[in-house]
Amino acid sequence: MDLKQYVTIVEDWPKPGIKFKDITTLMDNGEAYKYATDQIVTYAKEKQVDLVVGPEARGFIIGCPVAYSLGVGFAPVRKEGKLPRETVKVDYGLEYGKDILTIHKDAIKPGQRVLITDDLLATGGTIEATIKLVEELGGVVAGIAFLIELTYLDGRDKLDKYDVLTLMEY
Ligand code: IMP
Repeated sequence: MDLKQYVTIVEDWPKPGIKFKDITTLMDNGEAYKYATDQIVTYAKEKQVDLVVGPEARGFIIGCPVAYSLGVGFAPVRKEGKLPRETVKVDYGLEYGKDILTIHKDAIKPGQRVLITDDLLATGGTIEATIKLVEELGGVVAGIAFLIELTYLDGRDKLDKYDVLTLMEY
């Protein structure tokens, strides 16, 4: 299936000059969403994943159906102040700003094999921060899966120690 036909390119959003890749039109199509999810599930099975971790909010959209299909748990990574119990946190820079990401301290058991998911790899800042959280809690990053990679931003350079799956490249 050619997944790119389901992605909508939005010019000059959220800022002039940015061509935003809108995946809501992919999710809106049951066959395309299932196809994309199934590709990542197959990859996660190869990597013998015990847990899926994804940053809010689109990392949940990709990661939760994968976790459900595998029968493993999903641990959310959220912006500071959103998780109710003790967290670990990390600063990160993203394509358009700066922020803090957090995860519950007990979300990952040491040695668990973790799949990290997000919709899109741009500069890699969000995923680099998510990796730091997973590793701080003793998780092993078994793989990282995205729907989309913006290859011209070289985000993969930050991930060269890890196994990465992307379903579409721009
Ligand atoms: P990075 O941290 O620079 O790799 O940016 C990736 C994050 O920004 C992901 O969590 C994406 O959801 C979001 N993002 C950046 N550009 C786009 C886009 O064109 N479409 C959808 N999400 C984007």
